[in-house]
Amino acid sequence: MNNNGILLFGGTFDPIHHGHLIIARAAAEQLQVEKVILIPSAQPPHKTNAAVSTTKDRLRMTQLAVAGDTLFEVSDCELQRRGPSYTLETVRYFRGLYGAEIQLYWLIGADSVGELLSWYRIEQLVDECIIVTASRPDYHLDQFSALQPALKEKQIKRIKKHILNTPMIDISATEIRRRAGQNLSIYYLTTPKVANYIINRRLYKNE
Ligand code: ATP
Repeated sequence: MNNNGILLFGGTFDPIHHGHLIIARAAAEQLQVEKVILIPSAQPPHKTNAAVSTTKDRLRMTQLAVAGDTLFEVSDCELQRRGPSYTLETVRYFRGLYGAEIQLYWLIGADSVGELLSWYRIEQLVDECIIVTASRPDYHLDQFSALQPALKEKQIKRIKKHILNTPMIDISATEIRRRAGQNLSIYYLTTPKVANYIINRRLYKNE
């Protein structure tokens, strides 16, 4: 075990899929962190598409996806909190748990860079953790100039410096929900346990 920090990875995870898991592991290896904490969000404040499944189902699927893998932990801290899931509050929660010395990284996919502008107190967030960005098919990492009104040049530079070289995995939760809704196979897009959970509980049938 090393002490290079902790990678926090929040998402709707409706459902969690191999895109999430592969980029999280790749990011963890590049940053050499001791663990990855997956954090299903309660109400994503900066996403227009709300979660389809219950928080209980999203949490359970996230736990099933990484059960037995010591790199990963799952936290329900955002689900326990009332109101929207502000990333800044989550980072402060983990700062309180692990102390001032530990490096906290927050992982986002390339499609989320443009959304950062609307995140709650983003200028504070980028000072209190390091935002790391993973590549994603069809998303170009050229939206950084859009962050200018909210962030200082120095802060934008730090985000740019932490773009990771992660594999391009063309899987989205939207696609899994669509396929499940149409009775198409969802195997290999997510882990077998998550796929079976979705099938057994007939999730996304009304999509
Ligand atoms: P949806 O299709 O419902 O929008 P999603 O597949 O994007 O969902 P989220 O739970 O919204 O999944 O994603 C959480 C985080 O993971 C976001 O920062 C998103 O950019 C990132 N992410 C999700 N899938 C990928 C992928 N295939 N490659 C890189 N990043 C991803």
